[in-house]
Amino acid sequence: MSVCEDSLLCNFPKCRAKLTGFAWVTACSHAFCDQHGSGEFSRSPAICPACSSALSGKLDIVRTELTPSEEYKAMVLAGLRPETVLDISGRALAFWTYQVQQERLFQEYSLSRAEGQVKQMEKLLSQQSQSRELELSSMRQEISSLKKVMEDYKRKYSEVSERLMERNRQYQKLQGLYDALRLRNMVGDREAARGAPAQFSTGAGKPPSPGGSPPFLGCDGDRLFSSLDHDGAKSFFQFSSPPRDPARAFTKKH
Ligand SMILES: [Zn+2]
Ligand SMILES: [Zn+2]
Repeated sequence: MSVCEDSLLCNFPKCRAKLTGFAWVTACSHAFCDQHGSGEFSRSPAICPACSSALSGKLDIVRTELTPSEEYKAMVLAGLRPETVLDISGRALAFWTYQVQQERLFQEYSLSRAEGQVKQMEKLLSQQSQSRELELSSMRQEISSLKKVMEDYKRKYSEVSERLMERNRQYQKLQGLYDALRLRNMVGDREAARGAPAQFSTGAGKPPSPGGSPPFLGCDGDRLFSSLDHDGAKSFFQFSSPPRDPARAFTKKH
């Protein structure tokens, strides 16, 4: 609030009301609104609420009209010597100047206090922003380290999955070998079961499977045959070969 060009403010703590109409002025150069002046100076002894000066003199406190009438202005200094008039005017002006200076000091103090508060707020804000920045950077670091850990896990997972696939391939291979072995054993057992009576047969006995070679022989058939003992293989071929009888096949067609 700027210093009022045409009026002073009440000096009562925290009042600062614009002085209009009637004002209470003191010998200690303080001024009060009508409400505070009439309240404070009705008791005795009167103490200035602004500076705690004792105001005991007859003219220490004056209730004055701020916009005096033309008649009053015409008469109040009439008859006084010019230097007295100037003396009175000078003191009145000194009072005014003092009030204006006080108001300026108060405004400067308020301004410096506000600036201090602003600085404090700025400091606080910058501290907060710094701590946020720190927090953010630590979180970023954490994220990057977590990413690294995740990459590590991904790599390990792919390694393990690669190894699992390798194991699976080995297992499949072993399973194939196992199946082939079982098949070979089955064939061996069957041949052993059939081979014995075949040696005592006439050699013209009916083949057990006239359709042709045994259907259970796969690509490993060669190997199976090569591993069969000589006699067994011989008897096997004797019994498993289809009867080459074109005449019979011919008659069958008709
Ligand atoms: Zn007041
Ligand atoms: Zn005072």
